[in-house]
Amino acid sequence: MNKVDVGKVIDQKKGFLCKIGDDLWEHPETSMLEKESAAILVMALKEEGFQVEMGVGGIETAFSARYGSGHPVIGLLGEYDALSGLSQQSGKTEKVPVVPGGAGHGCGHNLLGAGTVAAAVGIKAYLEATGTPGTVIYYGCPGEESSSCKAFMARDGVFNELDCALAWHPAAASRVTTGPTLANCRIYYRFSGVSAHSAACPEKGRSALDAVELMNVGVQFLREHVPSDARMSCAITDAGGTAPNVIQDHAEVLYLLRAAENNTLKDMITRVDAIAQGAALMTGTQLERQFVKACAALMPNQVIGRLIQANAEALPFPEITPEELAQAKAFQDTCPAAAPVIDQYLNAYSAERQAELASHRGAVINSFILPFADMEVLSASSTDVGDVSAVCPTNMIWLTAFASATPEHSWQLVAQGKTSFAYKMMLHAGKILAGTAIDLYADPALVEKAKAEFDRRTGGIPYESLIPEGVQPIPM
Ligand SMILES: [Zn+2]
Ligand SMILES: [Zn+2]
Repeated sequence: MNKVDVGKVIDQKKGFLCKIGDDLWEHPETSMLEKESAAILVMALKEEGFQVEMGVGGIETAFSARYGSGHPVIGLLGEYDALSGLSQQSGKTEKVPVVPGGAGHGCGHNLLGAGTVAAAVGIKAYLEATGTPGTVIYYGCPGEESSSCKAFMARDGVFNELDCALAWHPAAASRVTTGPTLANCRIYYRFSGVSAHSAACPEKGRSALDAVELMNVGVQFLREHVPSDARMSCAITDAGGTAPNVIQDHAEVLYLLRAAENNTLKDMITRVDAIAQGAALMTGTQLERQFVKACAALMPNQVIGRLIQANAEALPFPEITPEELAQAKAFQDTCPAAAPVIDQYLNAYSAERQAELASHRGAVINSFILPFADMEVLSASSTDVGDVSAVCPTNMIWLTAFASATPEHSWQLVAQGKTSFAYKMMLHAGKILAGTAIDLYADPALVEKAKAEFDRRTGGIPYESLIPEGVQPIPM
């Protein structure tokens, strides 16, 4: 059995795989509440002969599903959480919710979850038919959007047995990840003081709101002393009330800190903590700190990345019918002001290549794979795939599944989440990941090469989670 045969296996299971995509789309559940979605995937993987373990990493909606034995052990990262407030009818080119205020698959995770099953079943067929040693594990990774559950799973050693990990994500343009992303963390700082009448006896009060304000001022001064790609953002989640004639005895601020290096982020956390303590000291209030979550910077493995690229380029881009193009054009027209999506990626290429790629700027569907980037450019986003990439050689491909102007996390994306084109690309993703895995099983020297790169980049220093022991993810 070769890659072409594996592609045929995936095509034969098209009905089964698209049904998973439909079922996930029709049961949009937000971070860590994905009970039905996890059940849909688990049932499908069991039916395909995978051995399932539920609740991995102590997270109810996380699971693993494995097949095979021995090395290489290749992990596939599946996601299936939806976004709140994005309920939207399928195929509609105006904003019409299915359930007003309900959730919707605004990041295409129905395709991500089901396409990763396509890869898993393709790989299983290959291992079974050829008797090649190797294990494939589908990881059901919940709560990507707000809880970064992969980071908790990584902290608890869930990915430790992996030789490498592969993933994909539906998008408006196709490219292999070549640049790092920012590490991040969320921490609540909660102050409690003493309430008092703000005119009659303010001297008796201790203001928690003052503490939040002073903390924020302190962080403004810290900005000069962090690297320029670091980010410190906050939301005042409790201002203590709405009455200015009362000294506020409770107030809370949620900080989101980001940095290019995991160690820089650790230093920033220490300094922001100290500022919070200082604010409490200045105001005579008590400080309570709640660490919510963190994820490590993404370190995309270039050996694995080039292998994914080669597999993506070896497969012809799925044919687009005139109806699919017309539908994409109708969605494109709902986003008239959007800048061409490929512009975001051009800075990773030489001037010559940029000029070449600019010819695609007007495309309705980006029906091509961007070349492997010439340089690693830091992306100012974050992902919980970062922690997996800190445990083992990991990389992923973003694949066109929507009209090129489709914004992320939008109703337009939800509406395109189960079109015939999106499903073609979902199966295509399965074939690319399965093909990449087959290369790794057939030639374990490639795994060693990927590991050598990993060791060089980590300097042999073992992964250390940014999340303190005892902190568990919370649905958000
Ligand atoms: Zn996503
Ligand atoms: Zn998302």
